[in-house]
Amino acid sequence: MPNNTSKTGVRESSDIESDAHLPTESGNFRIAVTSDENGMEHSLLYTEGFTKSDNPLIRIHSECLTGDAFGSLKCDCGAQLKKSMQLIQQEGAGAIVYLRQEGRGIGLESKIKAYALQDEGYDTLDANLALGLPADARDYKIAADMLKSKGIKRVRLMTNNPLKINGLRKNGIIVTDRISHISGMCKSNIEYLKTKKTRMGHLLEID
Ligand SMILES: [Zn+2]
Repeated sequence: MPNNTSKTGVRESSDIESDAHLPTESGNFRIAVTSDENGMEHSLLYTEGFTKSDNPLIRIHSECLTGDAFGSLKCDCGAQLKKSMQLIQQEGAGAIVYLRQEGRGIGLESKIKAYALQDEGYDTLDANLALGLPADARDYKIAADMLKSKGIKRVRLMTNNPLKINGLRKNGIIVTDRISHISGMCKSNIEYLKTKKTRMGHLLEID
């Protein structure tokens, strides 16, 4: 009987690693979960080849309940998440760092308030500013720490956002390549994407 099993057969939770197999529609992954100092739980979704790779394919995805779970077309998050899972499966060695930074870090309730302002004609940036909130409140230290915890020092990053590249570099991860990541562009989100390009410095090949 393992050491962490009591006489009653109940395992000690603190002795069990939060890291397990996760079959998905896109293929087989493992999932590891880490809590930050605010109690937010962040996930690392990775393939078997990830920890053996010298320079894996990585996507850092910030939680978007409306896009990821409900298939919202107001943004491209759901399509980007799905595409990154498929590309990582094709590659064989890669991971998605799924950060609980809803609404570019302002939270779901504030994001929906910003959507209400967007219904009145504000763009995604001005809506945040009108609410007295930052345009982008995300932080990437926890993402870098999660990669380092699996022995990863260098990555190829799927992103259009220079802040993510800088966020990893600042926290000790070498980003050797940026891989353009465009998916799910449609008429419901084209203005949102244009604002990200023209006002927030995202590297998007759109006019
Ligand atoms: Zn979204």
